[in-house]
Amino acid sequence: MDTTRPAADQPAPDHTAPAPSSATTPTPTSDTPWDVVVIGGGSGGLSAALTLVRARRRVLVLDAGAPRNRFAAHMHGVLGHDGRSPLALLATGRDEVAGYGGVIRTVQATGVLRDGDALVVTSDDGATHRTRHVVVATGLRDRLPDVPGLREEWGRGVVSCPYCDGFEVADGRIGVLATGPGSPAQAQLLRQWSARVVYLTGEVGLPDDATRRALDARGVEVVEGVVEQIWAGTDSALSVRVAGRTIDLDRLFTAPTFEPLDDVLRGLGAERADTPWGSFVTVDAAGRTSVDGLWAVGNVVNPAATVPVAIGAGAFAAAMLNHDLVEDDVRRALAVADVEAGAAAAGVRTTGGSAASDSLSTPSEAFWEQRYQGTDPAWGSRPNAALVAVLGDLGLTPGRALDLGCGHGGDAVWLAQQGWDVTATDVSATALARVDSAARAAGVDARVTTARHDLTRTLPDVTVDLVTASYFQTPVEGVVREDALRRAAARLTSGGHLVLVDHGSVAPWSWDQDATFPTPDELARTLGIADAEVVLAEARRRVASGPEGQQAEVTDTVVVLRRA
Ligand SMILES: Cc1cc2nc3c(=O)[nH]c(=O)nc-3n(C[C@H](O)[C@H](O)[C@H](O)COP(=O)(O)OP(=O)(O)OC[C@H]3O[C@@H](n4cnc5c(N)ncnc54)[C@H](O)[C@@H]3O)c2cc1C
Repeated sequence: MDTTRPAADQPAPDHTAPAPSSATTPTPTSDTPWDVVVIGGGSGGLSAALTLVRARRRVLVLDAGAPRNRFAAHMHGVLGHDGRSPLALLATGRDEVAGYGGVIRTVQATGVLRDGDALVVTSDDGATHRTRHVVVATGLRDRLPDVPGLREEWGRGVVSCPYCDGFEVADGRIGVLATGPGSPAQAQLLRQWSARVVYLTGEVGLPDDATRRALDARGVEVVEGVVEQIWAGTDSALSVRVAGRTIDLDRLFTAPTFEPLDDVLRGLGAERADTPWGSFVTVDAAGRTSVDGLWAVGNVVNPAATVPVAIGAGAFAAAMLNHDLVEDDVRRALAVADVEAGAAAAGVRTTGGSAASDSLSTPSEAFWEQRYQGTDPAWGSRPNAALVAVLGDLGLTPGRALDLGCGHGGDAVWLAQQGWDVTATDVSATALARVDSAARAAGVDARVTTARHDLTRTLPDVTVDLVTASYFQTPVEGVVREDALRRAAARLTSGGHLVLVDHGSVAPWSWDQDATFPTPDELARTLGIADAEVVLAEARRRVASGPEGQQAEVTDTVVVLRRA
């Protein structure tokens, strides 16, 4: 089930608050880079998400929907919510997060991987989610003592936390079922709530003499023997049978074994430590793990965290995480400013489109900017082989060219070297900065002008003899690139050419193994460019290299049109 709650469906959280900007609410596709993916939508995760969405960050919450306290009808010790249902609290929390533009999905996260600067979260619906940071708030599993009937009473007659359930049985008959060396201390703690505490030794056996004396001194009754059965009582909340004797209780407390649900933290090798409660991933006071960009809050790292403690940890981690994001934003802005200053000093012209540092705030920019920031600058710096071959065959006289989706500028720089004056355009400021550098390094900067555009919306204001578009294909949802190609073709002079080289098959390392492609003829037809004849429409095989040097034969679809 998908519980994504579009912001528009939610009650307005605050009429005085600014609406989330388009930069903070991208189309929630699995390709959209998020600022933060929160794994786990219990008290800790939703609290982190709420702080982050209110800081106008793009936040995705992945939640399997099984909070630890789901067995309890009421919760206590939660300021302002005493006695409320824990599930009702979380439902309100989800509405609040969604009301500020957060996206919540009911899925199981299956792993977190690093990809360049980004983290990639996988989920059991087959989706992948690229993000700058991850908050893990997956909680823990209580491994209960193996006593017949205990599991059925968990969260009602049988509980573990005196601060959550002690007051409700004040002065009542309280049992403590021993599960380990910490159990006598649990009995001493519960003595704070009632003078009628029964310590059941269970399979742990009698405590040592000093411990026994301390229990006796405070009037705690010690009952030796294995607990044979637990059942909901008739006159009391609960009854237990020990060595043939029935004991009626108002509540039985016990300490389960804690099993942190931290598989997603293990994948990236987050450091852990042995604690009295078992092995847990270590975090600093703000919730940072040893892995960059990976945070953890709540029971997954702190079994003693009650609901308010998990809420506090989530809120604090979120604020510290947002500080890290701001520092990162500053670093990126400075890097762009440095490149621009260098380009200006070297006399490289940038024209049209937006200033490199202004966000275009479109889903395409969000996707491609993140993509290029995590990509080796050397990738895509060579010209497209099919383009080189086609232009060789056409024997065109160099004039003005427009390169759509120029990426790192392999085509643009090569065209400039052949004598073309090229306007190289892309949505990514990072990619364009690299084109400027490459053009300078090749000594053709006077022939290369970079311009930043989301080509589905705007185009450079130029008239050209050649439009090139190599692998101008996008996984971003809702983008119709044919419109951009038609508008670009309209900028061609009479007799000008459009050379389109598309992926025509899926490489084994491609991110979308299910992609399908039109045939060359279909592609030429779909473009439907007025006043143009099809010069060439064919499939060409080539051997391509993957990101790890692997090789495979793939197909390129090459279409060349000539404007009448
Ligand atoms: C019976 C009982 C009664 C309690 N009563 C109280 C009380 O009265 N007051 C109080 O303050 N505290 C109480 N607690 C403690 C309370 O449950 C915890 O403090 C609280 O749940 C911790 O919040 P959390 O966000 O860390 O984890 P959780 O609330 O457990 O939330 C974790 C969420 O992450 C999800 N998740 C796990 N793995 C994945 C994954 N791989 N992908 C996606 N989602 C995942 C889970 O399904 C869950 O929705 C009680 C606990 C129990 C067991």
